[in-house]
Amino acid sequence: MAKTTITAALPYANGPVHIGHLAGVYLPADTYARYMRLKGEETLFVCGSDEHGVPITLRAKKEGITPQDVVDRYHALIQESFEKLDINFDIYSRTSSETHKQTSQDFFLNLLKKGAFKEITSEQFFDPEAQQFLADRYITGDCPKCQNPGAYGDQCEKCGSTLSPNELVNPKSALSGATPILKDTKNWYLPLDEIQENFLNNYINAQKDWRSTVLGQCKSWLNDGLKERAMTRDLNWGIPVPVENAEGKVLYVWFEAPIGYISATKDARPNDWESWWTGDTNLVHFIGKDNIVFHCIIFPAMLHLRGDNYIVPKQVPANEFLNLEGQKISTSRNWAVWLNEYLEDLPNRQDELRFVLHSIAPETKDSEFTWKDYQTRINSELVGILETLQIGFWY
Ligand SMILES: [Zn+2]
Repeated sequence: MAKTTITAALPYANGPVHIGHLAGVYLPADTYARYMRLKGEETLFVCGSDEHGVPITLRAKKEGITPQDVVDRYHALIQESFEKLDINFDIYSRTSSETHKQTSQDFFLNLLKKGAFKEITSEQFFDPEAQQFLADRYITGDCPKCQNPGAYGDQCEKCGSTLSPNELVNPKSALSGATPILKDTKNWYLPLDEIQENFLNNYINAQKDWRSTVLGQCKSWLNDGLKERAMTRDLNWGIPVPVENAEGKVLYVWFEAPIGYISATKDARPNDWESWWTGDTNLVHFIGKDNIVFHCIIFPAMLHLRGDNYIVPKQVPANEFLNLEGQKISTSRNWAVWLNEYLEDLPNRQDELRFVLHSIAPETKDSEFTWKDYQTRINSELVGILETLQIGFWY
């Protein structure tokens, strides 16, 4: 019987986890893993904290602490919430681990040896005072559309426009306040246009049983035509690019984060980890709809290039979003029910939350959480079911 490797999206260790994450990813993944184990299937369920990327460095700078301090704090908080909510991972790992560093560097070197990357030199913004390249988020300026003076190099949070740093008026470095200059830098790119022709078109078209919402997004990316995409970045927080003369460069977070599923497997099953990633094992990724391109296009492309009998995702149940009291859940506006706060304010009410979030699971369209509905579903629906089952007699 084929084994099943189940993954749940790695939460970003830059803040706590909220009910939208739970409803869309962790609860459905946990329930599927429980179902498979009950059926007696050989099942592995892995997850962990995603601890690299620019927002973590920005938060560290703002708070005057190190990026490691930030991820240590939120990794512990997130792990505790999952434990209390009885999410039964075989392992909850983290991408700052030594295992993960080695696994992702090996993966990069393996693809490098196979000639999978293109080395491309391009002009990137550079801070002449801090003497380092600037990620888009590190550049602020006036939004060209709404004149908001605090727009970022990738987005204006006031009007929602997607931007590139050269569109900003009066661009400034968030590190030193200096005006950034353009400077040449070399990075390693995956030629996704070629991989689309050789593999991705056929792979996506063969997925007859994926959700239409997932296939729709994938086909829209493919119809637009994929372009080469940088798999390394000029940044000092992350996994160093393991080649000579690559100081100050790290692996792109969306290159190494999915490899975190493999690293977690190594730590959970040191003796037979490979059998969970090769052969006829089924790979199932539970994610939110904002991660579809990374799990259905980029990670499968990486696994395909890796070869060596590695598997590619068999099913990617990506869920829609959960809204809260009529509004989109927003971390920046602090509009969310945070799991750690729920667990503090309503102790021993984990099963009630699991029940309600299952009954409003955002599987095919966005759904809505309200406290009134939470109360009604527990007091009438859940109590009704328990009475029908006469569970009460057993207490
Ligand atoms: Zn704007």
